[in-house]
Amino acid sequence: MTKPSTEVLIIGAGLSGLAVATFLKHKQPDISLLVLEQNDHPGGAIHSHLEEGYLAEGGAHGFLDNCLESRVLVHEAGLADEVEKAPLSDFARYICLNGKLQCIPQQPGKILRAPLIPMSAKLRVLADLFKKPLPDEPSIAQWVEHRFGKTLLPFADAVFTGTYAGDIKRLKIEAVMPGLCALEKQHGSVLKGLLKKRRLAGKNKKTGLPAMTSFNAGMERLPQAMASGLALNREIMYRTAARSIEQTEHGWLVRTGQLELNCHHLVLALPVNSCLPMLGEQEAFAAPPPPLPSIPEAHIATVALGFTQSAEIPHGFGYLAPESEQRFTLGALFSSQMFPGRAPSGHVLLEALVGGRRHPERLELSDEELINKVYQDLKNLIHLPEAPVFSRVLRPEAGIPQLEAGYTSLLNWRKTLHENNQNLHLCGFGWQGIGINDMHKEAWKMAKRILIGLQNEENEEVENVYF
Ligand SMILES: Cc1cc2nc3c(=O)[nH]c(=O)nc-3n(C[C@H](O)[C@H](O)[C@H](O)COP(=O)(O)OP(=O)(O)OC[C@H]3O[C@@H](n4cnc5c(N)ncnc54)[C@H](O)[C@@H]3O)c2cc1C
Repeated sequence: MTKPSTEVLIIGAGLSGLAVATFLKHKQPDISLLVLEQNDHPGGAIHSHLEEGYLAEGGAHGFLDNCLESRVLVHEAGLADEVEKAPLSDFARYICLNGKLQCIPQQPGKILRAPLIPMSAKLRVLADLFKKPLPDEPSIAQWVEHRFGKTLLPFADAVFTGTYAGDIKRLKIEAVMPGLCALEKQHGSVLKGLLKKRRLAGKNKKTGLPAMTSFNAGMERLPQAMASGLALNREIMYRTAARSIEQTEHGWLVRTGQLELNCHHLVLALPVNSCLPMLGEQEAFAAPPPPLPSIPEAHIATVALGFTQSAEIPHGFGYLAPESEQRFTLGALFSSQMFPGRAPSGHVLLEALVGGRRHPERLELSDEELINKVYQDLKNLIHLPEAPVFSRVLRPEAGIPQLEAGYTSLLNWRKTLHENNQNLHLCGFGWQGIGINDMHKEAWKMAKRILIGLQNEENEEVENVYF
């Protein structure tokens, strides 16, 4: 067994771990760090699939360009020239209602003004001004119904199907949208809070709509590019799974199959359910055991279908179907409209999503059955006169963490853990959100925490020398 030592050890080379490493190198190029990854490639939940000229995504399809941390990472990864953008202002989104695709405006205010919602329901939204916050930990469905009325439930359902593949009866509003809950508590009403916030932001400040962002060669380019810089300096080790961690006098000892690695700062950049077991084995922590042993996950499959241009795909990003519509497919992305070049010339690509928190049993079906059922479902919504000329089912291993009962207490537990262990840093899939921008924001917070920690340690050393 060898015992090398490094200032910062990061477990996990998904976007979170790579982002922490990239931020640290950017701020302190001579920092000594090492990333451990159990797979033979970086990226974790990100997986782009190129076949017969169709480029599909097994994981994330993109991220909005309204997050500074993500923009910095794209720049640091040297990918500015490979970026592809689909501005929200140019592309419509659809919701499946009463068996038809209905175009929905891109801004919540405009959704409320749209003819899609009856006048009585529009007036009901105003009841929010007088509603007291619900006690306990309301689900999104309870919260939306209480504040804005039942009619908005399918819209909320579509939003959280699109982001979490989740169930709004189980996802908790406080966990998923803490900002809105804070407005509700502070101002007694979400609408009042939003209006006040807007006034404070300044009437003349036009923020505009963000753009969905990806890369010419797919989302996989981002982790690949971040990892290649680290690989050049031998700062990343593949096929190396961390098995256990142990607190030492000066930091942490990480054991893999063959190695024992010492570090001052340890980053667990892992999905919540990979992180908790590693911490559960730890008895010497200055924190109580985690309040939950694990959190639920939603699994989905992407069914990529290629058609000739006889397919009449509506102009837009895609559509989502709320559960009340009882459809097989959760929704579909009109991928080659968002990002031209995702299908061979004269063809189009649709990527349909199946499964999710409510229908894990659908993932038991064979590829052939999935393709068939998705095609039949889509045919009822979109004019598809010819059968697909290309089909592929992508079944990502990663599940999407569900922020359900007990999640807020888990976050509070992490806060205590961080307060009591200044050189331990937890971030990654499901810690404080699930989207790529959430991951990058958390990664920057962890990098900042490490840099401040290292600075303080250095100052202590200086003090020791002089006094
Ligand atoms: C199907 C799907 C669709 C999605 N769509 C979108 C989207 O459109 N937009 C969006 O913003 N977000 C989306 N997301 C979320 C986004 O993909 C995640 O936020 C992000 O990829 C999480 O990155 P991570 O590094 O935190 O975790 P991961 O990607 O899970 O990376 C963790 C890494 O740690 C490694 N690892 C685990 N245990 C160990 C160990 N013991 N030792 C060493 N290495 C270990 C794993 O192999 C993995 O590489 C989607 C996610 C999924 C699953």
